[in-house]
Amino acid sequence: MTSTSVASPSFGDLALLPAVLSAVEAQGYETPSPIQAQTIPALLEGRDMLGQAQTGTGKTAAFALPLLSRLDMQRREPQVLVLAPTRELAAQVESAIVTYGKHLRLRSTAIFGGVGINPQKSALQRGIDIVVATPGRLLDLVGQRSIDLSAIKILVLDEADRMLDMGFIHDIRKVLGFLPKHRQNLLFSATYTRDIKRLADSLLNKPAMVEVERHTVAAQTVNQCAYRVDKSAKRDLLIQLINEGRWHQVLVFTRTKARANQLARKLEHSGRRVAAIHGNKSQSARTRALDGFRS
Ligand code: AMP
Repeated sequence: MTSTSVASPSFGDLALLPAVLSAVEAQGYETPSPIQAQTIPALLEGRDMLGQAQTGTGKTAAFALPLLSRLDMQRREPQVLVLAPTRELAAQVESAIVTYGKHLRLRSTAIFGGVGINPQKSALQRGIDIVVATPGRLLDLVGQRSIDLSAIKILVLDEADRMLDMGFIHDIRKVLGFLPKHRQNLLFSATYTRDIKRLADSLLNKPAMVEVERHTVAAQTVNQCAYRVDKSAKRDLLIQLINEGRWHQVLVFTRTKARANQLARKLEHSGRRVAAIHGNKSQSARTRALDGFRS
């Protein structure tokens, strides 16, 4: 990693709330990852941040731990807003917040489209401290006056580059219009494009800059290999690799939705338990597939 080579602190050195520290210990984390070591002190000071980091670096805890340590969780009005590009990421971030905040009397919720809006409204009515949302559904709820964003103290844009790729920039700007002017802003992005720079310039106030994994595309914890193979032999090769490697948990990406379905059927015939997941599947089918994968 291309982080600065300061001696790695322990979590105990980081001035996190004891309740947050004990949740971290319960997760079995021993030392902060490089992005955590760099991010946590600056965020505890209330600084804005521009983080160039991808998934797998521990970036979720890097922002979740300090923000959980800074909030007054008894207010029961949204004080933290995390915007994420997809339902899956929003759900994942919210579940990390629940894990790290389990000793705090904190209420959080994930808000995303593709599922009924009424349970989300009810959750908001019960009083929520932290909202993790995709931009479109959040704006629906704002439009229906089901959520008040005027007490937000901390805004996190997670995977901001993907949000821009997915065309969310106008929604993001609209959301910004509902937030109080004075707040802490965090922007995380795997890439640092011109559009990200423009967004960062308009959003962040003297941000701390943190960057990990500058030159590589994939996280260094991942081994990569490529097989040059005829298109017609790809499926058989995949099945052979799975069998010979005794891989028991495999995530396969395909170029098209149809191909994902075909490959899933083929793998099923080879005796595997498989689920295809893509944009044509209902949210419940997608959730079921992910839960099945995890378990
Ligand atoms: P993220 O990059 O936020 O998606 O996190 C990647 C994975 O690393 C998650 O499964 C976390 O539970 C795990 N993780 C985060 N911080 C640490 C840490 N300091 N030590 C060990 N694992 C961690």
